[in-house]
Amino acid sequence: MQDVVHVAGEDRRVEIPFARTVISDEAREAAGRVLASGWVTTGPETVEFEREFAAWVGARQAVGVSSCTAAIELTLRSMGLPPRAKVLVSTITFCGAVHAIVHAGLTPVLVDVEGPTGMPTPETTARAARACGGADAMLVVHLGGYPARVRALADAAGLGLDMVVEDAAHALGTLVGDEAVGTVSRATCFSFYATKNLPVGEGGMITTEDDELADRVRRGRLHGMSKDAWRRYLPGGTWRYSVESPGIKANLTDLQAAIGRAQLRHLPAWQERRAALADRYDERLADLDCILPPPRPWRGRHAWHLYVVRVSPWCPVQRDGLIEALTAAGVGTSVHFIPLHHMPYFREVAVMPSQGFPGADALFPQILSLPLDQGLTETDVDTVCEVLHQVCDRHRLAGVTA
Ligand SMILES: *Cc1c(COP(=O)(O)O)cnc(C)c1O
Repeated sequence: MQDVVHVAGEDRRVEIPFARTVISDEAREAAGRVLASGWVTTGPETVEFEREFAAWVGARQAVGVSSCTAAIELTLRSMGLPPRAKVLVSTITFCGAVHAIVHAGLTPVLVDVEGPTGMPTPETTARAARACGGADAMLVVHLGGYPARVRALADAAGLGLDMVVEDAAHALGTLVGDEAVGTVSRATCFSFYATKNLPVGEGGMITTEDDELADRVRRGRLHGMSKDAWRRYLPGGTWRYSVESPGIKANLTDLQAAIGRAQLRHLPAWQERRAALADRYDERLADLDCILPPPRPWRGRHAWHLYVVRVSPWCPVQRDGLIEALTAAGVGTSVHFIPLHHMPYFREVAVMPSQGFPGADALFPQILSLPLDQGLTETDVDTVCEVLHQVCDRHRLAGVTA
């Protein structure tokens, strides 16, 4: 965009991608074992993974599915909402979450956010609920792993917790107050996408305390076929099944489940690594006053899926210029997320408040996600921060206001 590409790129070339997928040796072995077993789709490994995942989260039920997007769609489909019911959702989230609402036959209502968390507040939520004439349900995202105030948001929306679903794609390990994400609202949806905190490659999970909801999701994920239909080709399984409700194809495979089970054993240590790396970033960026560190929750626990800084308006190089300079220096970054009301399709299908999204529009040009994964080293963090310092220093000296 600006003449910044040469900055830092010439004298220093590193290779720190935004996120690497860490697959443990145990997960590789488990995958090999399943591939050799003669049974690779949904089966006993999936049942075990569900049990272990539920125990890890502290939830009563866990249902494995093909993705977090499918988890959200199946959960919403299973809640008995009337067609076109209005579902509140942040305008700063992943587009898949809103596609899931639309595919469930419901109407997304976009909610503005407030810096520095980038999430809806009780005020913006109440405003959106009023603007749409009353919401029927709400999807709450814990952005980057920062705990959203689920109960306060439900109150503000005029909804009981039974009409709230959490998008916990970033929030495996997050605590809301002293409650584990996965146990707070009607149902919680997790992702095992390649860059998420528990990487499998693809996959998702729904946790809930509601046995009936779990049953509906279990049937819905596999063509609406009666419970345990996945067993029909196992020795001793029966070919008989029934279909009494609609379904999609969104089951989790044993290959994914075996990888997930092995990865889950590493998760506590990985979460500690992420928190330590976030601390290191905070330290190394403390004297760079135009780059603001992510907020820290005053209660609960951050899962540190993302480390999102804000590039302040008085920074000598703005966010887009900084991304170019970092890319040139070999540092991968990302932006989470481009507001959904900036996208033509969502402008068409979503309900939007007439006063627009001043919070999201002010925040969006500032947010920048720095590299973070459980395999990152302290030296990598130091390098990213050095490059940031260099880029800012040079722009300050050059008097460039990019
Ligand atoms: C990744 C992500 C999803 C979708 O997860 P998939 O498993 O890829 O479907 C949903 N919401 C948010 C906030 C995400 O980051």
